[in-house]
Amino acid sequence: MKIEENLLTPNEWSRPQLKLLRVMGIVMHWTANPNATAVQNRNYFESRKNGTNGYGSAHYIIGTDGGIVQCVPESEVAYHCGSSQPDPESGRVYTDEARRRFGRYATAGSSPNHVTIGIELCPTDWAGNFTQATLGAAAELCADICTRHGLAPDDITTHHDVVGWKDCPLLWTRRPELLHEFRNTVRHAIEREDTGI
Ligand SMILES: [Zn+2]
Repeated sequence: MKIEENLLTPNEWSRPQLKLLRVMGIVMHWTANPNATAVQNRNYFESRKNGTNGYGSAHYIIGTDGGIVQCVPESEVAYHCGSSQPDPESGRVYTDEARRRFGRYATAGSSPNHVTIGIELCPTDWAGNFTQATLGAAAELCADICTRHGLAPDDITTHHDVVGWKDCPLLWTRRPELLHEFRNTVRHAIEREDTGI
């Protein structure tokens, strides 16, 4: 697994340099732009530093070729799953699942951004399909994060399952079984790491 470190310039909109309080989960996203590479998405986060594009970033972006770009250090907060809109199901800001996972960080006065690592996947089309290279690199990265931070594959969730109102990643929102499949791939990657195969 190769990670290209291309950190954002510290700024209040995409790299506020707030300390990540702890790592309680991994939140998966899609970039919603099949025409942009991982580096181009990174540069979009970078462009927010002028304050003209609002808040938003992630720790990692994975391209269609499986290349991983790191934008924000894991010790810092990235702005990837904060919300001020109610989840349509519970009528509250953040889902019941988010409250179960992140407790008081999944409340309107706080944010799961303080306790999660965000990973963006680049899709090949507007339907949100991913290449095997992207999914393979994502599984390896998640396995590594799980091992280093004492997480299990079930601690991997999606932007949709945290906020309720956003179809992100689009394909996994429409087909939740793909998230289950992904967690299984991560589980196998962790087992491979453990046995050194
Ligand atoms: Zn998202």
